[in-house]
Amino acid sequence: MVTKYRYGELTWPEVKEAAAEDRVAVVPIATLEDHGFHLPIDTDLRLCNAVCEAAVSQAPDRAILVPAINHGYSPHHLDFPGAISIGAHTLIDYGVDVCRSLAHHGFRRILIVNGHGSNTPFIDIIARLAVVETGVLAAAVNYWAAPGVRAVVDSLRESDKIGGMNHACEFETSLYLAIAPELVDMSKAVRELSHRPSKNYWGDLIAGDGPLVMMEHWSALSESGVMGDPTKASAEKGRAFLDAAAAGIVELVDEMRARAPAVRRDHH
Ligand SMILES: [Zn+2]
Repeated sequence: MVTKYRYGELTWPEVKEAAAEDRVAVVPIATLEDHGFHLPIDTDLRLCNAVCEAAVSQAPDRAILVPAINHGYSPHHLDFPGAISIGAHTLIDYGVDVCRSLAHHGFRRILIVNGHGSNTPFIDIIARLAVVETGVLAAAVNYWAAPGVRAVVDSLRESDKIGGMNHACEFETSLYLAIAPELVDMSKAVRELSHRPSKNYWGDLIAGDGPLVMMEHWSALSESGVMGDPTKASAEKGRAFLDAAAAGIVELVDEMRARAPAVRRDHH
């Protein structure tokens, strides 16, 4: 029998079995928000789901794919129609509650895979709280930061070295073209870099952010919603990015499975 890897498709005895097999629960998390004139508002969610699906389907005996936390932290995008934002504390509580439930059913390792840049501080907090409050090994990663992704992207990248890959950019547009090209309108893709970069403040998914961390309203930073250069995107690049990200997530799953349980010592 084929090993099922989608959490929602399991029966309850199968959930019990998957937990007993010490499979890593992979929890995608994203958001809905504007992605320029050429990409749908579900970009972060669809891409994150596709990466996680590709990863877990390659490791069905070691991981289980939990349905995504669809909504994320996007209040700075609300000037553009489409964004659905949930509160910072709601998001943290939601994520920890998902981990708590998984822990309750016996899962001991949870990997939160994020597809939305502004969820980053929250997935860190969710994973930390899950560790201290439930005793599981919980960790979080942005899928574009998974091991191996940067090398592949750097070898194919044509957009501006800093800021060319930030939002609805060469990276995300390529992935969407690889996953659902019928929903991408490349005739409406425009190159637009942040209107407000400064000496220590810039953003790039792959090259990394500047040392100064802040987030202003997106409508002050971009006219179209784009930050980066989607005109350099292609489905071929997207397939390479998808393969690299999926392989990187599998590597993290295996690393988490290999990690011995942490042994605490109370020194009081
Ligand atoms: Zn995005």
